[in-house]
Amino acid sequence: MVAEADGARIVVTGGAGFLGSWLCERLVGEGATVVCVDSLVTGSRENVASLEAHPRFTVVRADVCDGIPVDGHVDMVFHLASVASPVHYLRLPLETLRTGSVGTTHALDLAARTGARFLLGSTSEVYGDPLEHPQHESYWGNVNPIGPRSVYDEAKRFAEASTAAYRRARGTDTTIARIFNTYGPRMALADGRVVPAFVQQALAGEPLTVAGDGSQTRSLCWVGDTVDGLVRLAASGEAGPVNIGGDVEITVLDLARRVIQITRSSSTIEHVPLPQDDPQVRRPDLTQAEGLLGWRPRTPLDDGLTRTIEWMAARGRPERVPA
Ligand code: UDP
Repeated sequence: MVAEADGARIVVTGGAGFLGSWLCERLVGEGATVVCVDSLVTGSRENVASLEAHPRFTVVRADVCDGIPVDGHVDMVFHLASVASPVHYLRLPLETLRTGSVGTTHALDLAARTGARFLLGSTSEVYGDPLEHPQHESYWGNVNPIGPRSVYDEAKRFAEASTAAYRRARGTDTTIARIFNTYGPRMALADGRVVPAFVQQALAGEPLTVAGDGSQTRSLCWVGDTVDGLVRLAASGEAGPVNIGGDVEITVLDLARRVIQITRSSSTIEHVPLPQDDPQVRRPDLTQAEGLLGWRPRTPLDDGLTRTIEWMAARGRPERVPA
């Protein structure tokens, strides 16, 4: 395990994605040597542009499903590689299943072979459309195993099962972070997730597309806070799973209103069909994160949204969300 990033050699799969790129920056900033492994399917070199010239940072373009071409000593593996937006995993269902299963096995093999500590970037989606609220780590979830979201949910559940089994059967030093909705700069502008979708629409003066009646809730976490939770979990000896997520629950309709207010947009709200199996509520029980890691999210939603809106406003209009 790594108690400190300083001097450690760390592999981050999915390191050129939204969350991964923030994590790489944080780890390099703390003195680690970071090998970012990314297929660049939804990640991009632009996300890690600030690190490209850094002597302790390398990008290896590879799909984790084909193996992880990293030699030598490794202290820590953060396994974040996967598409994460519903729009993307509904478009890439078979690839998503393979990444969560075959790709995770390769990442675990790398940790087992090198003796590295392993952190799985899991998800609140393992709770499905939860019947317990808020969600404590002891809750087993309510997932439709053959519904459209199952390609992501079940892949991550398989990844959790694999992580737990490597720990038991091989003695690999593993941990699991269940990451809830995270937002901030570098979210792909066209990835269809609620924050970039609403911000883009508000900035363009278009109607905000609220799914269903908008009464479903999410608990959004600023990306810097999420990364801090992941780093603390990696540095702890904890096996997890540990929830990492926002502590303020908001309805999607209220989020749309907040975005309109902060952007001072003249946009209206348009209700669109609710996607199948869309979770009705979501909020992490953070007792474990607080007790074991001393972690709580710190950034108020309005501050984080303002920073995200400023970043997105400076980027202009993205290409359309793929159908
Ligand atoms: N959503 C919405 N309008 C959009 C995009 C998403 O109302 O343009 C809703 C979506 O149906 C869900 C919530 O916002 O209830 C969060 O969706 P997101 O895709 O960000 O992530 P999820 O939490 O569903 O994985």
